[in-house]
Amino acid sequence: MTARRPRRNIVIVGGSIAAVTAAQVLRAEGYQGRLTMLSAETHLPYSRVPLSKSVLSGAADITTCALPISTESVDVRLGQPVVGLDDQAHCVHVANGDAINYDGLIVTSGARARRLARPGQSGEYVLRDASDIPALVERLFAARTVVVIGAGFLGMEIATTCTTLGLDVTVIDRDPPLRRLLGTWLSALVVAKAEASGVRFVRADKGVSLLGDGHVSGVAYDDVTLQADLVISAVGDIPNTEWLQRSRLRAAGAIVVDQQCFASPDIVAAGDVAAIRQPDGSITRLPHWNNAVRQARTAALSLLHGRDAPIAEPDHYFWTDAFGMQIKVCGRIPEQHDPIILERDDTQGSYLVQWTGSDGNPSAAATVNRKLPVVKLRRLATDAGVVAT
Ligand SMILES: Cc1cc2nc3c(=O)[nH]c(=O)nc-3n(C[C@H](O)[C@H](O)[C@H](O)COP(=O)(O)OP(=O)(O)OC[C@H]3O[C@@H](n4cnc5c(N)ncnc54)[C@H](O)[C@@H]3O)c2cc1C
Repeated sequence: MTARRPRRNIVIVGGSIAAVTAAQVLRAEGYQGRLTMLSAETHLPYSRVPLSKSVLSGAADITTCALPISTESVDVRLGQPVVGLDDQAHCVHVANGDAINYDGLIVTSGARARRLARPGQSGEYVLRDASDIPALVERLFAARTVVVIGAGFLGMEIATTCTTLGLDVTVIDRDPPLRRLLGTWLSALVVAKAEASGVRFVRADKGVSLLGDGHVSGVAYDDVTLQADLVISAVGDIPNTEWLQRSRLRAAGAIVVDQQCFASPDIVAAGDVAAIRQPDGSITRLPHWNNAVRQARTAALSLLHGRDAPIAEPDHYFWTDAFGMQIKVCGRIPEQHDPIILERDDTQGSYLVQWTGSDGNPSAAATVNRKLPVVKLRRLATDAGVVAT
């Protein structure tokens, strides 16, 4: 099904980190054929990571987030949303009516922000794209009270900026803040810092709905209503797969690919749009930066080299910046277990910690405000008895 095939005309759908990485890898591997990148966005590729950090706070401009892409070696077409795929005819359809043929297709259409607004409601803010920034920043500077729905990484990063701007901030979630991602011990550290900065946390076991028949004026949960000048939702993402619905890929939720990122013999997918079927049958989607890079590399190599390409192992590495804490995590943190504290400096708020699994072997490691090469952090997450520094 996926033998090595000579490629002369590769099309990439998407214009972000997975798309850019795939293009770079193709050219670095000596691919000399036509290479077309179709992006729905009107910006040249940029990193989303600083959007909720330095860009939202005004410390950096979107121009500083540009990703390296050579428009000489890649035909980058901006503002070109792809609306359909005919995988039998090997062609994608663009919103402007163009049909573009390919002999290899790389799907990197990523994800968009999930929203809670009902039809007819406006004024729910989200942060996913550069185009979300201007209106959100304008509202941030005009508002006094803000509700952030979602206490995951994104919600906490947004809340951080809101507090630095002096806003009255409430963060609301059905789960305890960051608990599922960072476990009890580490999430408690972040929550303590957030509360010290004035953030109020609200638990809404039964979920949250938006108030207002027209413009959103706050949130409702249980029997409580909470008015706010600004409501920002950070409640997860939805993979952009609608354009595949009439193809034989028929993605539901995300495009399921194998470990070499193949969805079909001439189509690979990578990044937030993709979910990998693991050898044990489980399906993992890890919408983080490192996974997008790793999968895009595999996807490009698979198109060129077929089954000789390396597999994309899941990468459980991520980082976040919230309330003055720079946190880096490798591995999967067991939610209820406390870590072994390898180093701590309470005056600096700096920590190096390691979790072990039920078998007693290391399963995760994290740093807080402490520099450590990622390769060492990865080792700490998997090897017992490693000296960290
Ligand atoms: C605000 C923010 C902060 C983040 N911070 C971190 C962090 O600190 N650490 C971390 O590990 N990860 C972070 N992430 C996650 C990380 O940015 C994503 O995992 C990464 O951007 C995924 O890259 P991608 O290329 O797969 O998809 P995306 O970045 O979602 O890009 C998809 C691209 O495809 C385009 N597209 C979509 N549909 C179509 C179509 N039909 N036709 C053509 N083009 C289309 C989109 O316009 C977009 O350009 C953050 C994400 C956000 C939004």
